Amino acid sequence: MSNIKQNIQQITDEIEEIRKKRLNITTKVQLLAVSKTKPISAISEAIEAGQKIFGENYVQEAVEKIQYFSSRNKDLQWHLIGSIQSNKTRVVAENFDWVHTIDRLKIAQRLSAQRPIEKLPLQVLIQVNTSQELTKSGIIYHDSEECFLEIKKLADEITQLPQLKLRGLMCIPSYENNYQNQLAAFSPLISLFNRLKNNYEHFDTLSMGMSDDMEAAIMSGSTMVRIGSAIFGHRI
Ligand SMILES: *Cc1c(COP(=O)(O)O)cnc(C)c1O
Repeated sequence: MSNIKQNIQQITDEIEEIRKKRLNITTKVQLLAVSKTKPISAISEAIEAGQKIFGENYVQEAVEKIQYFSSRNKDLQWHLIGSIQSNKTRVVAENFDWVHTIDRLKIAQRLSAQRPIEKLPLQVLIQVNTSQELTKSGIIYHDSEECFLEIKKLADEITQLPQLKLRGLMCIPSYENNYQNQLAAFSPLISLFNRLKNNYEHFDTLSMGMSDDMEAAIMSGSTMVRIGSAIFGHRI
């Protein structure tokens, strides 16, 4: 077996082990394989191991891969996890299945308007910047009612857009090497998710956790972990 296949097998087992230790055991945890900067051959190996959902950061690079696989593997799902500029919305709306990085109404409106009518609505997540680093995208989170209402307003507006389906929230906390600090970093997103979820019909996805904080993310309630280097090796 190749390394990539072995890694996917191992991470899938690990996710199951961790999931069984948490309270809300009935909720599934999906593995999103983050293939940014990795070649078609690496993605093909992952597909051979049964992987069907992939995350990409850079639109142009992703579209080449999506188009390559579109005639070969019909049941793959592509998620944009990198930030999105307004001049790229059309190509995103035409090619991706999910977008994790919505933080402004304008981008959401463009994606809905440009989503081809014959395709399913684009599945979207609101990105929340829980670590207040100004360089990252996402709505800046503060523990205040005002901030909650700002995020709820965007969520309400997104649900009015015909070609988008609001599925939940996403965050990229700043790097923490200690398990307790990782748990603490995820907790704002959990509270926000729990407050919002009953307002929307299909709000069931919490995208959080990467190779270095996967366990803390799953224990916190993640439903989708985004794993790159632990599957494909380090990026250069
Ligand atoms: C690159 C990336 C990942 C994967 O990170 P690893 O540490 O390689 O697992 C996950 N999420 C986002 C948003 C990324 O940019």
